[in-house]
Amino acid sequence: MIDLHTHTDESDGSYSPARLVAEAKAIGLEALGICDHDNMAGYDLAVPIAREAGLELVCGIELSTKYRGKSVHLLGYFLHQPPAPEFRSWLGQMQDSRRDRNRRMVERLRGFGMEITIAEVEARGRRQAGRPHFAALLVEKGYAATVQQAFDEYLDEAARGYVQRLEPTLEEAIGRILKAGGLPSLAHPVRLLNSHRASLDAMLREFCDMGLKALEVYHYDHSPAQADEFRVLADRYGLAVTGGSDFHGDTKPSVRLGWSQQGTQRIPREVLDRLR
Ligand code: AMP
Ligand code: FE
Ligand code: FE
Ligand code: ZN
Repeated sequence: MIDLHTHTDESDGSYSPARLVAEAKAIGLEALGICDHDNMAGYDLAVPIAREAGLELVCGIELSTKYRGKSVHLLGYFLHQPPAPEFRSWLGQMQDSRRDRNRRMVERLRGFGMEITIAEVEARGRRQAGRPHFAALLVEKGYAATVQQAFDEYLDEAARGYVQRLEPTLEEAIGRILKAGGLPSLAHPVRLLNSHRASLDAMLREFCDMGLKALEVYHYDHSPAQADEFRVLADRYGLAVTGGSDFHGDTKPSVRLGWSQQGTQRIPREVLDRLR
């Protein structure tokens, strides 16, 4: 059993790389993919720890991109060699744009009368603060009752506190991963159905023209029936199948490491063997 989609506290997960590796070993995973948002610090830290623990570690990334003006997450897997150096320096630019976005978002929220500072946000986000850290702070300070309410009212793309940042288009992000020697996979396709309200079939046709190579069929948010539909679509477009829980630790407590399809299915080792 494997899990190819997890987050550490170097993005918006709550587990350190060491704790994540230990947990993966404890539940008997054979391979673990770390796919933090827009950075590889968690993966880098996990490399020696996983080697020591005898756990196969897969180098991954989850990029925030835009397609038709709305958010789409794209996974990239570097299965045979590490990403080309220019990919990492491009990720550095994404970090800069996040920091800049965070400062502007603090100003915007302060405009609503919230007494928050960039230092408080960054203290919660360690190396990379994101909207989930804003949400946690808003809850702590009593400006929202729950994390979900903080998103609904202020932080969601459609909410009044949202601030745009420099994000690549899906097409650019696919190109960057391919050029860096990676395999681009569309993350949690179920979310596109909700956000874009278009036919996934038609969108996938377009994404294949952009160079997409795989589809995340196994994911915690997918029902078994949805996963079956996605598998059919992957077959139709000659896309490989990837899979993971999207574990974030205490940030998303309902998601269990190593499980997909709403906690009903594990992710078999052959998914990784086929990718390779
Ligand atoms: P960021 O990358 O800083 O823009 O934050 C994006 C993260 O915020 C996503 O990966 C989700 O974990 C979370 N997120 C975004 N939109 C929502 C939402 N409407 N409700 C709950 N969580 C969300
Ligand atoms: Fe996340
Ligand atoms: Fe995602
Ligand atoms: Zn994720």
